[in-house]
Amino acid sequence: KPQNERQKLPVVPQGIERDEFLKALAELKSQLGDEHIEINDKPLRDGWYMEHPNTHDSMTILDEEEFVASAIVYPGSTEEVQQIVHWANKHRVPIFPISMGRNLGYGGAAPRVRGSVTVDLGKRMNKILDINPEDYTCLVEPGVSFYALYEALKEKGLEEHMWIDTPDLGGGSVIGNTVDRGVGYTPYGDHWAMHSGLEVVLPMGEVIRTGMGALPGNNTWQAFPYGFGPYSDGIFSQSNYGIVTKMGMTLMPNPGGYEAFMYTFAKDEDLEQLMEIIRPLRISNILENVAQVRHVTQSLAAIGQPRTRFYSGTGPVPQEVIHAAAAQTPLGDHSWAYYGMAYGPSHIRAHKLALIDQEFKRIPGARRIDPATLPEDEYFWARERVARGVPDIHELRWVNWAPNGAHIAFSPVSPIRGRDAMKLFALGKRIHEQYGIDFFPAFCVGLREMHLIVEIVFDRADAEQKARALGCLRDLVDQAAREGYGEYRTHLVLMDQVAGTYSWNDGALMKFNERLKDALDPNGILAPGRCGIWPKRYRGRGWEM
Ligand code: ADP
Repeated sequence: KPQNERQKLPVVPQGIERDEFLKALAELKSQLGDEHIEINDKPLRDGWYMEHPNTHDSMTILDEEEFVASAIVYPGSTEEVQQIVHWANKHRVPIFPISMGRNLGYGGAAPRVRGSVTVDLGKRMNKILDINPEDYTCLVEPGVSFYALYEALKEKGLEEHMWIDTPDLGGGSVIGNTVDRGVGYTPYGDHWAMHSGLEVVLPMGEVIRTGMGALPGNNTWQAFPYGFGPYSDGIFSQSNYGIVTKMGMTLMPNPGGYEAFMYTFAKDEDLEQLMEIIRPLRISNILENVAQVRHVTQSLAAIGQPRTRFYSGTGPVPQEVIHAAAAQTPLGDHSWAYYGMAYGPSHIRAHKLALIDQEFKRIPGARRIDPATLPEDEYFWARERVARGVPDIHELRWVNWAPNGAHIAFSPVSPIRGRDAMKLFALGKRIHEQYGIDFFPAFCVGLREMHLIVEIVFDRADAEQKARALGCLRDLVDQAAREGYGEYRTHLVLMDQVAGTYSWNDGALMKFNERLKDALDPNGILAPGRCGIWPKRYRGRGWEM
């Protein structure tokens, strides 16, 4: 929106008068200090990854004004978070907590309900409260990024002693990523499984500590996640039941050596056999990390060049063109690349690597790429850093595929099986072709399942492209669900649709979620609509999309 239009802002959350809202904000200012509240009345700036906005989704697939905050508040302590929650209940203002808001591809910093007050925890609550080198654990606040945690280990001279686990992009918050159940690529890649202990401000303002944290004087909060009684942590991930103000995280002992490796496979159809080979190796921990099997299209895009460098036509870049271009790179004229890492001293690695080599080479044409032949800025090295817990942002490069590049993901869960991988690959390819969109599939192999991450890159200044991308995503979600595949995580705009696919027994799970929501948040102030969970006040009033 042009500046003069935006000055009529802030947008006011529905159900409250503008003057009343401004008065309420003034009251909050008097409690927290003027400087800790910002009204969102300036032109929206998209910035870039390291200077991202906290007012909206800088990679939005809708109109930018759709998911936009009315104001941003910066609490400095758990007590101030409680004050904000009390205030929101008093005035019935929707609030939306973020840690750092670098949730790229899933909505960034944006709230689901337009005009929510964003609670930006990360700006002032950014302390590493504890690093314990004996137990290999830490305790962090929402504003601690993977970079910051990594730097802190270095400063303490502990980086040789223990590792962090980082997602593809290291600028996000450890808490933000973990509560959204993001993944990394060392053996500690399942962040949610690796956390231990939360401190949470509930929607009515009470504070709880989960697990051993509930026992006064305990010294095992970060060592034993369960404590006694129901394991409550689960309801605070991918939900809107509380604001996480502290979290314990486990750290990985330095394994005593590592070696990244890469294989390529010639044909699209090799995926089937490859998955059958990966499954037993992964479950028995010969393949030790969340590895990636990426299609060449995305690896080519990871060079960081726009798609127009390879092709000027419309519709997906033909595979012959992709292969011809890839043939000029170290990747060669192949369809899939497997990026992995072996851990431990060299004699232990040698055993595992030999087994992997023998198994992978059963696929005709399989090639091991010698890392020594790869130039320094080759994408392989970004994968290598991430797989040993060194934060990185190389991954952003494929966003340059489109001008004003933005991305949004389709990420269904699948067993590690050849026929499932092929089915999802064919489904994705068909729907992408139908919408004229380049197909970027990457399989991230967990332990007994894999997430297929399909990133759609689009020009955020092009309404027609955005509409196509959204149409494509909606079809992907529905058609995959019809085949029994569900998303592990999703963007704000798809949350209702994805939640709707988890409908067994007449939507029994969502009914349960709604009962919890209404019990914990009777005024419906906390992140309404997040993950498809709408509080009573909003339900059935046309908010779902
Ligand atoms: P990151 O900083 O890693 O990019 P975000 O802060 O954007 O992650 O968090 C991702 C999503 O998780 C947010 O949109 C929000 O819904 C939820 N979230 C993040 N931090 C918290 C928190 N401390 N308490 C509750 N929910 C949170």
